Amino acid sequence: MSASADKPTHFIRQIIEADRAAGKHGGRVTTRFPPEPNGYLHIGHAKSICLNFGLAGDYGGECILRFDDTNPVREEDEYVRAIIEDVAWLGFRWTGDVRYASDYFDRMYELAEALIGKGLAYVDDQSAEEIRRTRGTLTEPGRPSPVRDRPVAENLALFRRMRAGEFADGTRVLRARIDMASPNLNLRDPVMYRILHARHHRTADRWCIYPMYDWAHGLEDSIEGVTHSICTLEFADHRPLYDWFLDSLGVFHPQQIEFARLNLDYTVMSKRKLHQLVTDGHVRGWDDPRMPTISGLRRRGCTPAAIRDFCERVGVTRKDTTIEMGLLENCIREDLDRSAARVLAVLRPLKVVIENYPPGEVEELDAPLHPNDPALGSRRLPFAREIYIEQDDFAEDPPPKFFRLAPGREVRLRYAYFITCTAVIRDPASGAVTELRCRYDPATRGGNAPDGRKVKGTLHWVSAAHAVTAEVRLYDRLFTVPDPEHDDKVHFLAHINPDSLAVIRDARVEPGLADAAPETRLQFERLGYFCVDRHDSAPGRPVFNRTVTLRDTWARIQGAGR
Ligand code: ATP
Ligand code: MG
Repeated sequence: MSASADKPTHFIRQIIEADRAAGKHGGRVTTRFPPEPNGYLHIGHAKSICLNFGLAGDYGGECILRFDDTNPVREEDEYVRAIIEDVAWLGFRWTGDVRYASDYFDRMYELAEALIGKGLAYVDDQSAEEIRRTRGTLTEPGRPSPVRDRPVAENLALFRRMRAGEFADGTRVLRARIDMASPNLNLRDPVMYRILHARHHRTADRWCIYPMYDWAHGLEDSIEGVTHSICTLEFADHRPLYDWFLDSLGVFHPQQIEFARLNLDYTVMSKRKLHQLVTDGHVRGWDDPRMPTISGLRRRGCTPAAIRDFCERVGVTRKDTTIEMGLLENCIREDLDRSAARVLAVLRPLKVVIENYPPGEVEELDAPLHPNDPALGSRRLPFAREIYIEQDDFAEDPPPKFFRLAPGREVRLRYAYFITCTAVIRDPASGAVTELRCRYDPATRGGNAPDGRKVKGTLHWVSAAHAVTAEVRLYDRLFTVPDPEHDDKVHFLAHINPDSLAVIRDARVEPGLADAAPETRLQFERLGYFCVDRHDSAPGRPVFNRTVTLRDTWARIQGAGR
């Protein structure tokens, strides 16, 4: 029986359950999430995080957070900090301290000497270019290096001199001695170490040789006792190499299992491309709400629960697919629908003067914060003679099915009164509508008429004197096409959406939002879900990011106030 019989099963669960049933590793399950700290995490990483931490949690196992920091040149502490923050924010807790591949550099070096001692690795004097050229192709075998048969003692001495810093960058490498004719190119004497006189973010100048990913990665898992080493499909061809290293050394042998990476439409996911979006200024940093990064989704207002739900729903398979952005947006909506308080905000204000409402009078109307969750409580909304409604909610010459305000028409103000439009004030120069005059029916307080008469439209509004001016950032998809990487001849940046951000600086929100805490998530009724920006919002001058639009705004308009 599995510890997680209620969760959908998939092939990795089945492997783990079979291993446990067979008593492999004494039933122990240890997984890990091994990011390279060369960029921020994206939603694809979230899938791997949810999978690894989720499996460990379900089977009473452990999950390690380990930085694969074997490349000193591209890695930075900023990324390390951001990754730790993102994993914690997603709601996962790693076993013990955060680990670093660089902590194992000594052990890896020892194991490399052991391999040399067995005649299974050699120092090559060829340049990287020569090694590439002599590697052969899928149809032709590679050519052995002229020094492939160097004696063990000579290899050991040279390798020690490499480590001691006696050679310049690129002049020598350590290679595994496997098979230059293998049909799997990864097995044609792959490079294990290269010389690189570069400062490392953690080991500083202690090393001038650095392990290659393929040599290091399997060892890291082995050293940590990882039982199920889960990675994406492109590493399937590398598995025979990892197996060869581990078996040749006779060390603990984790089982590698590959699954299909997550692809999402209307975005890009490779760190190189995300980097370019940031450095070229197409977005305002890695955590820009348009980015598919975890920190971007967070800043946009997405919840950790929504991301975990999304990762669960996309499932785990061995077949590459592209998931629709709409699925992620739906997960976000569903979660916020349950939890977000409903408030009133007017994005593009149009002033309405209620002519028969006494000047100077203010009353407070009770308004619940959630239609289905009384536990969220309610607040008092000030109502007065001058209010703002949405410009879009008025039409002088309403088209068919336009049920909002128009000259002579009566509508409901949410939680307030019925009003009827009696006059339209225009700017004499442009002719644009600048203000409406209306009359209200005092008998409809709370939004219902005692005589049972109906209105078709319910509008959101704020009191002009009490509302707070806010900045609202409306985000759209970052690319105009589902697959911006589709065509090799067209650069992905050519598909960038020039209208992915619209900033409204003079929106008006209900007064209770003046000092809303950063990251507060709300529904602006009839408009969508919004979140208080965690960096730019300030007391008295709130800034909101639109997280997602409502599923069906029209249905909401018609259904509202019933
Ligand atoms: P990139 O190729 O863009 O640099 P990466 O895969 O090299 O990304 P890593 O930091 O090495 O990034 O990834 C850490 C872990 O996240 C790896 O185990 C990798 O398999 C997993 N991962 C990365 N991208 C995805 C994805 N799109 N879907 C699922 N898992 C992913
Ligand atoms: Mg990688």
